[in-house]
This record gives sequence, structure tokens and C-alpha cells, in this order.
Amino acid sequence: MSNDFIPVNEPFLGGNEKKYLNECIDTGWISSEGPFVGRFEEQLAKRIGRKYGIAVANGSAALDVAIAALRIRAGDEVILPTFTIISCATAIVRAGGTPVVVDCEPDTWNMDVNQIEAKITKKTKAIMVVHIYGLPVDMDPVLALAKKYGLKVIEDAAQAIGLTYKGKECGSFGDISTFSFYPNKHVTTGEGGMVMTDDKDLAERCRSLRNLCFNNNKRFVHEELGWNYRMTNLQAAIGVAQLERLDMTIQRKREIGIRYSELLCGIGTVQMPVKNKPYADNIYWVYGLVIKSEFQMEASGAALELSKRNIGTRPFFYPMHQQPALKNLGFNFSGEYSVSENIYKKGFYVPSGLALTDEQQTRVCESLIDIFRA
Ligand SMILES: *Cc1c(COP(=O)(O)O)cnc(C)c1O
Repeated sequence: MSNDFIPVNEPFLGGNEKKYLNECIDTGWISSEGPFVGRFEEQLAKRIGRKYGIAVANGSAALDVAIAALRIRAGDEVILPTFTIISCATAIVRAGGTPVVVDCEPDTWNMDVNQIEAKITKKTKAIMVVHIYGLPVDMDPVLALAKKYGLKVIEDAAQAIGLTYKGKECGSFGDISTFSFYPNKHVTTGEGGMVMTDDKDLAERCRSLRNLCFNNNKRFVHEELGWNYRMTNLQAAIGVAQLERLDMTIQRKREIGIRYSELLCGIGTVQMPVKNKPYADNIYWVYGLVIKSEFQMEASGAALELSKRNIGTRPFFYPMHQQPALKNLGFNFSGEYSVSENIYKKGFYVPSGLALTDEQQTRVCESLIDIFRA
């Protein structure tokens, strides 16, 4: 790779990460038993405004634990957006449940909450919301439906650490919420995740599920199957350092997003992210672009053009209702999901990691303007 390549994401590790990692090594605490794990759980839970945080190995594991903790099982349906990561559907399916999907909104790319009620049946157990790319799901209608039908809410806040909905932190809304600390998330631990809840019993269940459901009285007698999804002290040490800089991270991500929108505002052929909704300000977890229908190029073509100019991109999510892995298991998703299908074809995101320089960003914009001249 030539050295003027601009990657789609490069994390920033310039705070206390090294210092805290050295502490782990100096003290010998490298497993999940070390003190940074509890510190990271407490500090992030406090920041989000939740009572309990349970650190796990990654964000997908957090979803597995959340689904199992809520006792979702064979015969249960869970409503989720079709435009999301496979981890959401995987957790439901591996528990024996059935994913039921709704399409997304054309402007925010978040699940269209107006489509949820029509999908509720006697088998529906939960609604899984996923905040996408920097704006939250419109939570109030979701919470009203959950209350009306007695459903649980699972909130996947992996992309929304530091994002607020009507002034309240994302990740504080669901009966249970999940986070990821993959390097492109606002807080990274390399690999890592967390489950959060305000319910003591649910938190207890999550802790047990994370740790193979060891029995408190008879250690090797298991009443239920869990996982080894423990987070190490090394990962948590990085997380604690990252968390110290979360406000700066969010501010920088916003800056990058707003600057992209300013520099690209002359391009009429691509749709840019929405800056605000009445309930939230975009934090631009990624900076997504959707090529308008009148411009004859698909996202894959744009990615190719940008790669020729040494610029990294990522495609948008491939919708769940089209996933071969789910279709092969016999799930059939009836209904129309044209918005998700279109943004998959025409959408991609451009470099916006914390290590991105203004100079690099200018180069990305010049390339985009060059490619998308009408
Ligand atoms: C990143 C992400 C996950 C998965 O997290 P991993 O740590 O990569 O397993 C889950 N949900 C969403 C919305 C994500 O963005």
C-alpha cells in the first residue's frame, strides 16, 4: 500500500493507553480478573447513565448475551431493522428466534419506526433498535409501542457512544443495551463490547452468561449454557484511557462531518448525511454518501474510483432480508424494503477516523468532486 493511502479509519491512541497497559504488565494483571475491567464498566455505565455495565469480548458477543439474558428462544420473534450488521440477526437466530425486519428511512438510514406496529404478532417478544451511522432511532414511538404491547427493547448503541436522543444518552433507553469497542467505534479496546441495563437480575444473568454460567455453589455444575465472553484487563485498560477522551472524540467526529458537508455541498449528485433531526445532532460515526438515482454510478464504482486515488471506503450494510446465510436457514422476509436495497447499491462511506488530517480530508473531497461532477 503506498504511503499516501488514506484508510477509512485509523484510531487515535495518544492518551493514557500506553501508561495503563504498562500498569497491567507491571502488576501482572492481564486476564479478566484485573482491576481495569470493573473500572471501565463503572465509568462507561456512569457516562451513559445506567446502573450496570458488563464488559464482554466484542459487540457481537454483547448482542448474544443480551438476547440470552432476555430469554428469547425458539418461537419468539424480534423486530429489527433490515439495514444493520449481521451480528443483530445472528444473536436472534442462534437463540432459536426469528428475525422480523423493517425498512429504513431514506434520510437518516435508521429503522422506520412507523413500520414496526404492523409487524407485531402474538409471537413478538422484543424490538431491537440499532442507531445507524451517527443519528439515533426515533426512540419515543418505539418505547410507546413496547409499552403498549409488553415488548422488551434491545438497544444496539455500538455506533452511538456519546450520541444523545432528546438530550439523553443513547444506550440508556433499552431494557438492555449493547456497545462495541472495535477500533472504528468512539471508544476502542481493540476488540471489546459491553452490555448495560438498570435491572439488577438482568445484570446478574449477563455476568453469568459471559462467564460460562459457572455455578456459585457447585462451580462446575451448569444450569444453563453460557460463553467465555470475558474482556481482559489489557483491553479494559485501553478502554479507560479512551473514555477519558470521549468528549473530544465526539467533537472531532462532528468537526470532520460538518467539514465534509461544507466542502461537498456543491455536489448535487450525492445525498449527504442529515446534520440535525428535531431529536438529535449527528455525531457522524461515519460519513456516508448515497449516490442519487439520476447519477449512473453504483457504490462499487465509486469505491473503485476512490481506490485508484488511494482513498479507502466501505460499502453500506447489505440488508438482512437479502442475506444468503439467513435465506439458507429458511427465513423468508416478505414485504418491500426498497430504501435499504437502494442505499446498499448506492451508498458508501469515506475516511473519517480520528487520525484523519485536514489535508487528507481535502484530498478526499477533491476526489469526490472530480468523480461526481454532474
Ligand atoms: C460494530 C457493530 C457491532 C459488532 O461489534 P463487534 O465488536 O465488531 O462484534 C454490532 N452492532 C453494530 C451496530 C455495530 O456497528
